[in-house]
Amino acid sequence: MTGPDAFRAALAALDLPPEWQVEVAIRPRRRKTGIQVNPAGGVAVLIPPTAAPEQVARFVSGHRRWITEKVDTATRLAPDHAVKEFVDGEEFNLLGRRYQLQLVDASPAGAAQLPLITSDGVLSARTQRPELARRAVIGLYQQVGLAWLRREGRQYELDGHITGLNYTVRDLGRRRWGIYEGPPKHTTTLHWAVFGLPMRLIEYVLAHEQAHAAQPGGRPHGRAWQWRMHLWMPDWQQRRTELAEIGRHAWVGDWKPRSSPTCCP
Ligand SMILES: [Zn+2]
Repeated sequence: MTGPDAFRAALAALDLPPEWQVEVAIRPRRRKTGIQVNPAGGVAVLIPPTAAPEQVARFVSGHRRWITEKVDTATRLAPDHAVKEFVDGEEFNLLGRRYQLQLVDASPAGAAQLPLITSDGVLSARTQRPELARRAVIGLYQQVGLAWLRREGRQYELDGHITGLNYTVRDLGRRRWGIYEGPPKHTTTLHWAVFGLPMRLIEYVLAHEQAHAAQPGGRPHGRAWQWRMHLWMPDWQQRRTELAEIGRHAWVGDWKPRSSPTCCP
């Protein structure tokens, strides 16, 4: 068996672009050499134990164009999420509307709880440490989002003959906007961060999961599921493309301490 260094040397001779960050991985169970482009753009060459370095180098060399395209796409679509500081005047999007954060010391008279949003575009939150303000604002997204989800999900239930469906809103990490879990859970879940996206993308994520909830049969995104999507949202493919682009800039909970003013020469 050839060690990884011999493969690295053979690949180094190809003079590949340094931004590819090529790594070699010997995979005992593989029978053929493979190439994997990671979501952030790194390239892994997966090598079976029987391969010879010059063979692998020839394979990679023959796939140069393919790798170039994949790395381009991966880096173009790499996440670049918004970061919040929870300072006065900062903008937040919720259900297609823009709000300005206003930190207040106490609940305004008559208002039951903070945070809250007003019809004139203010998001009031209690003045507190940013990590606590963040938690409160995410709680607001969850609450407002769940009410919307229950209301808007209904039309799909009726049209898709879906009964007994449950809804939740929670954090789904950085890779998923929604999931449908089949019986016995029978639950449509949306990421709270979905509700910060433009309205047409919130609607897309909902329709996508409801089309699973209708249990069309076949593969998860197979023909039966697609047929339903075409029926419910004729431009769903366009919206899916927009989500890939807009979603990577979305706020998914990142925050940083307020940037201190730069000081003095
Ligand atoms: Zn899906």
